[in-house]
Amino acid sequence: MEIIALSGFVNGIFALSFGILVIAKNFRDRANQLFFLMTLATAWWAFSYWQWLSSYQHNAALFWVRMLSIGSLFIPIFHFHWIVHLLGVSKRKGLLLAIIYLFALGILFFSFTNLFVADVYQKLFFLFWPSPGALYNLYLVLIYLALVTYSSILLVQHYPLASSENRGQLFYILLGTFFGFLGGATNFFLWYDIPIPPYGNFLVALFPFLLGYAVLRHKLFNVKVVATELLIFAVWAFLLIRFILADNWQERIVDGSLLILVIFFGILLIRSVLREVQQREELEFLTRQLKIANEELKKLDAAKSEFISIAGHQLRAPLTVIKGYVSMLLEGTLGKVSELAGESMKKVAISANQLVKLVSDLLDLSRIEAGRLRYEFKDIVFDDVVAEVVAEVEPMAKSKGIGFLFSNHNPLRRPIKADPDKIREVVMNLVDNAIKYTSEGRVSVELVTERKDSREWLQLKIQDTGIGIKAEDIPKMFTKFARTDEAKKLRPDGMGLGLYVVKKIVEDHGGEVRVESPGLGKGSTFFVELPLADTK
Ligand code: ADP
Repeated sequence: MEIIALSGFVNGIFALSFGILVIAKNFRDRANQLFFLMTLATAWWAFSYWQWLSSYQHNAALFWVRMLSIGSLFIPIFHFHWIVHLLGVSKRKGLLLAIIYLFALGILFFSFTNLFVADVYQKLFFLFWPSPGALYNLYLVLIYLALVTYSSILLVQHYPLASSENRGQLFYILLGTFFGFLGGATNFFLWYDIPIPPYGNFLVALFPFLLGYAVLRHKLFNVKVVATELLIFAVWAFLLIRFILADNWQERIVDGSLLILVIFFGILLIRSVLREVQQREELEFLTRQLKIANEELKKLDAAKSEFISIAGHQLRAPLTVIKGYVSMLLEGTLGKVSELAGESMKKVAISANQLVKLVSDLLDLSRIEAGRLRYEFKDIVFDDVVAEVVAEVEPMAKSKGIGFLFSNHNPLRRPIKADPDKIREVVMNLVDNAIKYTSEGRVSVELVTERKDSREWLQLKIQDTGIGIKAEDIPKMFTKFARTDEAKKLRPDGMGLGLYVVKKIVEDHGGEVRVESPGLGKGSTFFVELPLADTK
């Protein structure tokens, strides 16, 4: 019995705390006012319940049962009023509300007669358990059963129409309603002499908790804050009761001072916890925003890579056809071509080669970004790769009127482990750049072996007398889209991808690439170093 009496006290504290919590947020809000009334009725019922089960005298018990019944009369009514207000249908239900309030007033009038609560006497392990009067039956059927069912139906009906944010709120209201009234209903069996004790009474604490949560969910509400507030309210309630029940003035002064102190520090504590939670929520909000932005960026980036990859593949096929026919025309396979047409064809061939290089850089970029750049390593003679590239680009240098030298100081033709196509791309990019960015003078390509870090390396050195590179530009030369202002002026068509791809490929071959330049207009020298196969 004592534990059930305690449930009354706990329910009362819960109801009062949440009522105050909600009304304190905004006491002008109609929904908050109705919520407060509902929790007040619940607290009235709960504290009277506690008093009743703590009574040892018939009259006192009867008095508290009648008091608690007034509370329990108004809980479903305020609950209904609150719900129709939240659902925005309180105007349409105005007449019904008026009838219900009139009905409640009627019952209230008879609440201290035996028409409502007939009497109390011993049932099960309870000294004084009530029996219903005629009006109580009406209350039970019309208010407790019918009205609560109707409220729940309204909630369920409105659920599919609500926005997803409000759905969460409705869900908690439904949950609170269900547990609260189900728990409370376990009291009725004994009223009608069915020997089931009111064990569900503790569930009623969930009623203000879940409903309060629903109200405050979108604002500052957090388990930590509620726990702090509940604890502090409990201490306040405890000290207040001690203060009121104090035996003498000395005790009362001590309890009173303690109460004032605890109220003061309690408020400070609640405020600091609130502030902390607020800051954390702001941080969480920002983090969420950042995450969303990041996801978007990733998607955009993937879409861009996908686009580059598709566009690259689509461009490559027609380019191969152009290159094929142009070389056939130049070789005379398709009949004799006039000298003038031949000259133009050479220009077409050069442009087509530039385009092929650009497309392959783009494709490499998209593969690098997608982590899909694959190599087929085999033993190859690097000298041959360089010689091939040199043969291909030499005419370009000649047509620009610049000198071209190739010297190979690697007579042993030692093999390296490499992907032939990729390594060809590296050489092509660098030699092509040297010619591209040189207007007069010469380009020289040199291949030597060297010993470094007790390993043997092949070094390819590509030196030109072209535009050169400013010292401050050198460190970023191998990054994506890096182009110097001078290069942009001379060749507006470049993209700044070649060197980025070169670096990636060379490094994936265990090698190194770097550039040196004495300054603007003084030419540049690119070095590629690759480890020789047998020393690997
Ligand atoms: P692109 O040639 O399309 O601009 P690259 O990645 O091949 O792209 O080169 C990037 C930049 O490096 C060039 O724009 C230029 O500024 C600089 N660069 C490359 N090679 C040379 C060179 N031989 N002489 C001077 N600058 C160069």
